[in-house]
Amino acid sequence: MMIVTLGEIVVEILAETRGHGFRESQPLSGPYPSGAPAIFIDQVARLDYPCGLISCVGDDDFGRLNIDRLHADGVDVSGIAVAPGQATGSAFVRYRPDGERDFVFNIRHSAAGLTRLTPEADALLDRARHLHVMGSSLFSPELREAAQTAIARVKARNGTISFDPNMRKEMLQAPGMEDALQSMLRHCDLFMPSGPELFLLSRADTEEAAIADLLGLGIGGIVVKRGAAGSSYHDRDGSCVQPAFAAEEIDPTGAGDCFGATFTTCRLMGHTIEASLRYANASGALAVGRRGPMEGTAGFAELDALIAAQAGRKDGLS
Ligand code: ATP
Ligand code: MG
Repeated sequence: MMIVTLGEIVVEILAETRGHGFRESQPLSGPYPSGAPAIFIDQVARLDYPCGLISCVGDDDFGRLNIDRLHADGVDVSGIAVAPGQATGSAFVRYRPDGERDFVFNIRHSAAGLTRLTPEADALLDRARHLHVMGSSLFSPELREAAQTAIARVKARNGTISFDPNMRKEMLQAPGMEDALQSMLRHCDLFMPSGPELFLLSRADTEEAAIADLLGLGIGGIVVKRGAAGSSYHDRDGSCVQPAFAAEEIDPTGAGDCFGATFTTCRLMGHTIEASLRYANASGALAVGRRGPMEGTAGFAELDALIAAQAGRKDGLS
Protein backbone atom coordinates (compact mmCIF):
# COMPACT_ATOMS: atom_id res chain seq x y z
CA MET A 1 0.00 0.00 0.00
CA MET A 2 1.45 3.29 -1.03
CA ILE A 3 1.25 7.07 -0.89
CA VAL A 4 0.44 8.57 -4.28
CA THR A 5 0.35 12.16 -5.46
CA LEU A 6 -0.34 13.79 -8.78
CA GLY A 7 0.74 17.03 -10.40
CA GLU A 8 3.52 18.97 -11.98
CA ILE A 9 7.11 17.95 -12.52
CA VAL A 10 9.33 20.90 -13.48
CA VAL A 11 12.98 21.84 -13.48
CA GLU A 12 14.01 24.84 -11.46
CA ILE A 13 16.66 27.27 -12.67
CA LEU A 14 17.89 29.34 -9.75
CA ALA A 15 19.49 32.79 -9.99
CA GLU A 16 22.91 32.93 -8.36
CA THR A 17 22.48 36.51 -7.16
CA ARG A 18 19.72 38.18 -5.19
CA GLY A 19 17.84 40.90 -6.99
CA HIS A 20 14.71 41.64 -8.95
CA GLY A 21 13.65 39.27 -11.67
CA PHE A 22 15.19 38.30 -14.96
CA ARG A 23 15.35 41.39 -17.13
CA GLU A 24 19.09 41.19 -17.49
CA SER A 25 21.52 38.39 -18.25
CA GLN A 26 22.82 36.87 -15.03
CA PRO A 27 24.48 33.79 -13.58
CA LEU A 28 22.05 30.90 -13.10
CA SER A 29 22.33 27.43 -11.65
CA GLY A 30 20.36 24.32 -12.32
CA PRO A 31 18.43 22.60 -13.75
CA TYR A 32 17.27 21.19 -10.41
CA PRO A 33 14.52 18.56 -10.19
CA SER A 34 11.38 20.27 -8.88
CA GLY A 35 7.59 20.67 -8.79
CA ALA A 36 5.77 20.65 -5.45
CA PRO A 37 4.21 17.17 -5.88
CA ALA A 38 7.57 15.80 -7.04
CA ILE A 39 9.39 17.21 -4.01
CA PHE A 40 6.66 15.84 -1.74
CA ILE A 41 6.86 12.33 -3.15
CA ASP A 42 10.68 12.32 -3.18
CA GLN A 43 10.62 13.08 0.55
CA VAL A 44 8.16 10.22 1.14
CA ALA A 45 10.54 7.89 -0.71
CA ARG A 46 13.49 9.09 1.37
CA LEU A 47 11.56 7.83 4.42
CA ASP A 48 11.43 4.40 2.71
CA TYR A 49 7.64 4.47 2.38
CA PRO A 50 6.28 2.96 -0.87
CA CYS A 51 5.10 5.80 -3.10
CA GLY A 52 4.38 6.90 -6.65
CA LEU A 53 3.81 10.05 -8.69
CA ILE A 54 1.28 10.64 -11.48
CA SER A 55 2.65 13.30 -13.80
CA CYS A 56 3.83 14.09 -17.31
CA VAL A 57 7.16 15.28 -18.70
CA GLY A 58 8.49 15.99 -22.19
CA ASP A 59 10.84 13.69 -24.06
CA ASP A 60 13.82 15.85 -23.06
CA ASP A 61 16.69 16.06 -20.57
CA PHE A 62 14.62 18.11 -18.10
CA GLY A 63 12.17 15.23 -17.91
CA ARG A 64 14.88 12.59 -17.72
CA LEU A 65 16.67 14.49 -14.95
CA ASN A 66 13.51 14.37 -12.83
CA ILE A 67 12.58 10.77 -13.56
CA ASP A 68 16.14 9.60 -12.85
CA ARG A 69 16.26 11.40 -9.49
CA LEU A 70 12.82 10.20 -8.38
CA HIS A 71 13.59 6.65 -9.43
CA ALA A 72 16.98 6.69 -7.71
CA ASP A 73 15.35 7.88 -4.48
CA GLY A 74 12.77 5.07 -4.60
CA VAL A 75 9.67 6.67 -6.13
CA ASP A 76 7.54 4.46 -8.41
CA VAL A 77 7.77 6.45 -11.67
CA SER A 78 5.47 4.18 -13.73
CA GLY A 79 2.71 6.84 -13.59
CA ILE A 80 4.90 9.53 -15.15
CA ALA A 81 4.00 9.80 -18.83
CA VAL A 82 6.49 11.05 -21.42
CA ALA A 83 4.71 13.25 -24.00
CA PRO A 84 6.46 13.21 -27.37
CA GLY A 85 6.93 16.65 -28.89
CA GLN A 86 6.25 18.47 -25.61
CA ALA A 87 8.68 20.23 -23.29
CA THR A 88 9.06 19.53 -19.56
CA GLY A 89 7.84 22.37 -17.34
CA SER A 90 10.25 24.89 -15.88
CA ALA A 91 10.43 27.55 -13.20
CA PHE A 92 13.06 30.30 -13.06
CA VAL A 93 13.43 31.58 -9.51
CA ARG A 94 15.29 34.58 -8.12
CA TYR A 95 15.33 35.65 -4.50
CA ARG A 96 14.87 39.36 -3.88
CA PRO A 97 16.99 41.08 -1.23
CA ASP A 98 14.07 40.81 1.24
CA GLY A 99 13.70 37.04 0.75
CA GLU A 100 10.59 37.28 -1.46
CA ARG A 101 10.85 35.50 -4.81
CA ASP A 102 10.35 36.45 -8.46
CA PHE A 103 9.32 33.63 -10.82
CA VAL A 104 9.06 32.91 -14.53
CA PHE A 105 6.92 29.78 -14.89
CA ASN A 106 6.30 27.54 -17.86
CA ILE A 107 4.00 24.92 -16.37
CA ARG A 108 0.45 25.26 -17.66
CA HIS A 109 1.46 24.94 -21.31
CA SER A 110 4.23 22.42 -20.68
CA ALA A 111 4.00 18.63 -20.56
CA ALA A 112 2.90 19.02 -16.90
CA GLY A 113 -0.42 20.38 -18.20
CA LEU A 114 -0.99 17.04 -19.95
CA THR A 115 -1.04 15.02 -16.71
CA ARG A 116 -3.95 12.57 -16.97
CA LEU A 117 -5.16 9.36 -15.32
CA THR A 118 -3.53 6.94 -17.75
CA PRO A 119 -3.85 3.16 -17.24
CA GLU A 120 -0.46 3.27 -15.45
CA ALA A 121 -1.78 6.01 -13.17
CA ASP A 122 -4.91 3.96 -12.45
CA ALA A 123 -2.72 1.02 -11.49
CA LEU A 124 -0.93 3.20 -8.94
CA LEU A 125 -4.23 4.46 -7.53
CA ASP A 126 -5.34 0.85 -7.08
CA ARG A 127 -2.44 0.44 -4.65
CA ALA A 128 -2.83 3.79 -2.86
CA ARG A 129 -3.86 3.98 0.77
CA HIS A 130 -3.29 7.73 0.73
CA LEU A 131 -3.47 10.46 -1.92
CA HIS A 132 -1.87 13.89 -1.54
CA VAL A 133 -3.00 16.86 -3.65
CA MET A 134 -1.40 20.30 -4.02
CA GLY A 135 -3.68 23.25 -4.84
CA SER A 136 -1.00 24.61 -7.16
CA SER A 137 -1.50 21.53 -9.37
CA LEU A 138 -5.19 22.30 -10.01
CA PHE A 139 -4.43 24.85 -12.73
CA SER A 140 -6.67 23.53 -15.52
CA PRO A 141 -10.08 21.87 -15.81
CA GLU A 142 -8.37 18.65 -16.94
CA LEU A 143 -6.05 18.59 -13.92
CA ARG A 144 -8.95 19.33 -11.58
CA GLU A 145 -10.93 16.49 -13.07
CA ALA A 146 -7.98 14.11 -12.76
CA ALA A 147 -7.56 15.07 -9.09
CA GLN A 148 -11.25 14.66 -8.35
CA THR A 149 -11.41 11.25 -10.03
CA ALA A 150 -8.28 10.13 -8.18
CA ILE A 151 -9.76 11.26 -4.86
CA ALA A 152 -12.98 9.37 -5.50
CA ARG A 153 -11.07 6.19 -6.34
CA VAL A 154 -8.85 6.31 -3.29
CA LYS A 155 -11.76 7.16 -0.98
CA ALA A 156 -13.86 4.35 -2.44
CA ARG A 157 -11.17 1.98 -1.11
CA ASN A 158 -11.18 3.67 2.32
CA GLY A 159 -7.98 5.53 1.60
CA THR A 160 -7.26 8.98 3.04
CA ILE A 161 -6.61 12.36 1.38
CA SER A 162 -4.30 15.22 2.31
CA PHE A 163 -4.34 18.66 0.76
CA ASP A 164 -1.79 21.48 0.74
CA PRO A 165 -3.18 24.62 -0.96
CA ASN A 166 0.36 25.83 -1.78
CA MET A 167 -1.05 28.95 -3.38
CA ARG A 168 -1.07 32.71 -3.14
CA LYS A 169 -4.35 34.58 -2.91
CA GLU A 170 -3.99 35.86 -6.53
CA MET A 171 -4.15 32.27 -7.82
CA LEU A 172 -7.71 32.04 -6.49
CA GLN A 173 -8.75 34.49 -9.24
CA ALA A 174 -8.14 31.86 -11.94
CA PRO A 175 -11.47 30.54 -13.28
CA GLY A 176 -12.62 27.45 -11.41
CA MET A 177 -9.90 27.65 -8.76
CA GLU A 178 -12.06 28.76 -5.87
CA ASP A 179 -14.58 25.96 -6.49
CA ALA A 180 -11.74 23.45 -6.76
CA LEU A 181 -10.37 24.60 -3.42
CA GLN A 182 -13.79 24.39 -1.78
CA SER A 183 -14.19 20.88 -3.09
CA MET A 184 -10.74 19.87 -1.78
CA LEU A 185 -11.62 21.20 1.67
CA ARG A 186 -14.78 19.12 1.70
CA HIS A 187 -12.91 15.95 0.72
CA CYS A 188 -9.61 16.03 2.57
CA ASP A 189 -8.89 14.27 5.86
CA LEU A 190 -5.74 16.27 6.50
CA PHE A 191 -5.33 19.94 5.52
CA MET A 192 -1.81 21.40 5.55
CA PRO A 193 -1.82 25.18 4.90
CA SER A 194 0.86 27.75 5.64
CA GLY A 195 -0.38 30.27 8.24
CA PRO A 196 -1.85 32.83 5.77
CA GLU A 197 -3.45 30.06 3.69
CA LEU A 198 -5.84 29.40 6.60
CA PHE A 199 -7.69 32.50 5.39
CA LEU A 200 -7.80 31.69 1.64
CA LEU A 201 -11.52 30.90 1.70
CA SER A 202 -12.43 32.02 5.18
CA ARG A 203 -14.00 35.26 6.33
CA ALA A 204 -12.84 34.58 9.89
CA ASP A 205 -10.54 37.21 11.34
CA THR A 206 -8.62 35.11 13.82
CA GLU A 207 -6.71 31.86 13.35
CA GLU A 208 -8.83 30.15 16.00
CA ALA A 209 -12.02 31.06 14.14
CA ALA A 210 -10.60 29.97 10.77
CA ILE A 211 -9.50 26.63 12.25
CA ALA A 212 -12.90 26.12 13.89
CA ASP A 213 -14.63 26.84 10.54
CA LEU A 214 -12.41 24.34 8.75
CA LEU A 215 -12.92 21.62 11.35
CA GLY A 216 -16.65 22.33 11.02
CA LEU A 217 -16.43 21.31 7.34
CA GLY A 218 -15.49 17.82 8.50
CA ILE A 219 -11.71 17.98 8.01
CA GLY A 220 -10.15 15.50 10.45
CA GLY A 221 -6.92 17.37 11.17
CA ILE A 222 -5.19 20.63 10.24
CA VAL A 223 -1.44 21.17 10.26
CA VAL A 224 -0.35 24.81 10.07
CA LYS A 225 3.15 25.46 8.70
CA ARG A 226 4.71 28.50 10.34
CA GLY A 227 8.13 28.89 8.74
CA ALA A 228 10.83 29.69 11.31
CA ALA A 229 8.16 29.51 14.05
CA GLY A 230 7.59 25.76 13.51
CA SER A 231 4.13 24.24 13.17
CA SER A 232 0.94 23.27 14.94
CA TYR A 233 -1.73 20.56 14.63
CA HIS A 234 -5.42 21.03 15.35
CA ASP A 235 -8.38 18.66 15.51
CA ARG A 236 -11.63 18.42 17.44
CA ASP A 237 -9.77 17.11 20.49
CA GLY A 238 -7.31 20.00 20.74
CA SER A 239 -4.01 21.37 19.50
CA CYS A 240 -0.32 20.49 19.55
CA VAL A 241 2.43 23.07 18.93
CA GLN A 242 6.06 22.31 18.02
CA PRO A 243 8.86 24.87 17.64
CA ALA A 244 11.11 24.88 14.57
CA PHE A 245 14.67 23.60 14.60
CA ALA A 246 17.39 26.21 14.22
CA ALA A 247 18.39 26.42 10.55
CA GLU A 248 20.22 28.76 8.26
CA GLU A 249 17.70 29.73 5.57
CA ILE A 250 19.65 29.22 2.34
CA ASP A 251 16.80 28.29 -0.02
CA PRO A 252 13.34 27.82 1.56
CA THR A 253 11.66 26.63 -1.67
CA GLY A 254 10.35 23.11 -1.08
CA ALA A 255 10.42 23.23 2.73
CA GLY A 256 6.64 23.11 2.94
CA ASP A 257 6.52 20.12 0.59
CA CYS A 258 9.14 18.20 2.59
CA PHE A 259 7.36 19.09 5.82
CA GLY A 260 3.99 17.88 4.51
CA ALA A 261 5.44 14.65 3.15
CA THR A 262 7.17 13.83 6.41
CA PHE A 263 4.13 14.61 8.56
CA THR A 264 1.82 12.52 6.35
CA THR A 265 4.22 9.60 6.15
CA CYS A 266 4.92 9.58 9.88
CA ARG A 267 1.20 9.54 10.67
CA LEU A 268 0.61 6.66 8.25
CA MET A 269 3.51 4.81 9.91
CA GLY A 270 1.73 5.20 13.24
CA HIS A 271 3.84 7.91 14.88
CA THR A 272 2.04 10.19 17.35
CA ILE A 273 0.98 13.68 16.30
CA GLU A 274 3.73 15.18 18.45
CA ALA A 275 6.46 12.95 17.02
CA SER A 276 5.16 13.49 13.47
CA LEU A 277 5.27 17.29 13.88
CA ARG A 278 8.79 17.04 15.28
CA TYR A 279 9.96 14.95 12.32
CA ALA A 280 8.18 17.28 9.90
CA ASN A 281 9.83 20.35 11.43
CA ALA A 282 13.20 18.63 11.15
CA SER A 283 12.43 17.83 7.51
CA GLY A 284 11.54 21.50 6.79
CA ALA A 285 14.67 22.72 8.59
CA LEU A 286 16.91 20.45 6.49
CA ALA A 287 15.14 21.61 3.32
CA VAL A 288 15.66 25.35 3.95
CA GLY A 289 19.35 24.77 4.61
CA ARG A 290 20.12 23.35 1.14
CA ARG A 291 20.23 25.08 -2.21
CA GLY A 292 17.80 23.55 -4.74
CA PRO A 293 14.16 22.66 -4.10
CA MET A 294 14.54 18.86 -3.95
CA GLU A 295 18.11 18.80 -2.62
CA GLY A 296 16.94 19.04 0.99
CA THR A 297 14.94 15.81 1.13
CA ALA A 298 16.26 13.49 3.85
CA GLY A 299 15.87 10.05 5.44
CA PHE A 300 15.12 9.18 9.07
CA ALA A 301 18.83 8.90 9.90
CA GLU A 302 19.38 12.57 9.05
CA LEU A 303 16.15 13.68 10.74
CA ASP A 304 17.04 11.76 13.92
CA ALA A 305 20.55 13.24 13.87
CA LEU A 306 19.18 16.79 13.67
CA ILE A 307 16.64 16.13 16.43
CA ALA A 308 19.33 14.61 18.67
CA ALA A 309 21.80 17.43 17.99
CA GLN A 310 19.30 20.13 18.88
CA ALA A 311 17.95 18.28 21.92
CA GLY A 312 21.54 18.11 23.12
CA ARG A 313 21.99 21.83 22.56
CA LYS A 314 18.80 22.66 24.50
CA ASP A 315 19.93 20.49 27.41
CA GLY A 316 23.32 22.18 27.37
CA LEU A 317 25.02 18.95 26.32
CA SER A 318 26.92 20.41 23.36
P1 ATP B 1 6.83 26.60 0.56
O1 ATP B 1 5.43 26.56 -0.02
O2 ATP B 1 7.59 27.83 0.21
O3 ATP B 1 7.60 25.35 0.31
P2 ATP B 1 5.39 26.70 3.08
O4 ATP B 1 4.93 28.11 3.25
O5 ATP B 1 4.40 25.70 2.61
O6 ATP B 1 6.69 26.67 2.16
P3 ATP B 1 6.93 26.96 5.51
O7 ATP B 1 6.10 27.26 6.70
O8 ATP B 1 7.72 28.05 4.91
O9 ATP B 1 6.01 26.20 4.46
O10 ATP B 1 7.97 25.82 5.89
C1 ATP B 1 7.54 24.51 6.26
C2 ATP B 1 8.22 24.07 7.53
O11 ATP B 1 9.65 24.08 7.36
C3 ATP B 1 7.95 24.96 8.74
O12 ATP B 1 6.73 24.61 9.37
C4 ATP B 1 9.18 24.67 9.59
O13 ATP B 1 9.03 23.45 10.27
C5 ATP B 1 10.29 24.50 8.55
N1 ATP B 1 10.95 25.79 8.31
C6 ATP B 1 10.66 26.73 7.38
N2 ATP B 1 11.47 27.80 7.47
C7 ATP B 1 12.32 27.53 8.50
C8 ATP B 1 13.42 28.23 9.10
N3 ATP B 1 13.80 29.43 8.68
N4 ATP B 1 14.06 27.64 10.14
C9 ATP B 1 13.69 26.43 10.58
N5 ATP B 1 12.68 25.71 10.06
C10 ATP B 1 11.98 26.24 9.04
MG1 MG C 1 3.77 25.61 0.54
